Amino acid sequence: MATERSHQPGTVDALLRAAAHELATGSESPRLDAELLLACAAGTTRAALYRSLADIVPEATAAAFGRLVADRITGRPMAQLLGQREFWTLNLRVTPDTLVPRPETELLVERALAWLPPGSPGPVLDLGTGTGAIALAIATERPTADIVAIDLSEAALAVARDNAAAAGLGDVEFHAGDWYAALPAHRQFELIVSNPPYVTPAELAAGDPALRFEPATALLAGDDGLAAFRPIVAGAPHWLQPGGGLLLEHGSTQGQAVQALLAAAGFIGIGTWPDLAGHPRVTGGRLP
Ligand code: GLN
Repeated sequence: MATERSHQPGTVDALLRAAAHELATGSESPRLDAELLLACAAGTTRAALYRSLADIVPEATAAAFGRLVADRITGRPMAQLLGQREFWTLNLRVTPDTLVPRPETELLVERALAWLPPGSPGPVLDLGTGTGAIALAIATERPTADIVAIDLSEAALAVARDNAAAAGLGDVEFHAGDWYAALPAHRQFELIVSNPPYVTPAELAAGDPALRFEPATALLAGDDGLAAFRPIVAGAPHWLQPGGGLLLEHGSTQGQAVQALLAAAGFIGIGTWPDLAGHPRVTGGRLP
């Protein structure tokens, strides 16, 4: 039986075993979490840890590791503890002010790229950009496209701007505002994309405890989870060029409701695509 504790000095091997044991109740990947957190505390990589399993971890590193493990046990997402998350080809900074980018949101990027041929000028609008994940992923793949990203949260926008600068995507334009409210009046877009809040309070209460560490404004959207889709869809025709497209990420049970909102706003060619888990996840349509 392991008597070591993750926050007490010991070898790399011993600390990893102790931490994986401590994390086993709250995490689906306790050993991986332990490795990533120790690599973070030690300022090194997982690969380097494996080359030094018998080394003694310095006291300060062990203490920092113990704090990270204790924080992880409370349910805090790994992306917040590590301060980063990979999305598409980007390594994005993540803070408690931003939603953690999810793999299923890469489907929205794929659909956007299918809409925008290489060399497309856009313009593209990303509503509720958070870390900037969607806008920046599109920007890396379609460098000729003008891209505008909006968020209500100034704190999130600061993170998104940092992510744009770090990725060498300084041309992406960021505005703070409530959906379309911050846009210059003359702007017209070829494509509008959004991963807005769409979780219900009941889903939040029943869901992954890690959700409680993310900004509620990025998750919750009224009792039916559709409150953000209504203004986004209703406003979209005004800001789209003729023939322009709208692509929205939504909850696995919301596809039909989002399709109905698009139809009511005059969109045609409406379709829904499943994510890698097979759940309806992205709905889109175009203006006539
Ligand atoms: N997909 C996220 C979740 O269910 C929610 C993201 C969102 O509300 N846009 O955890």
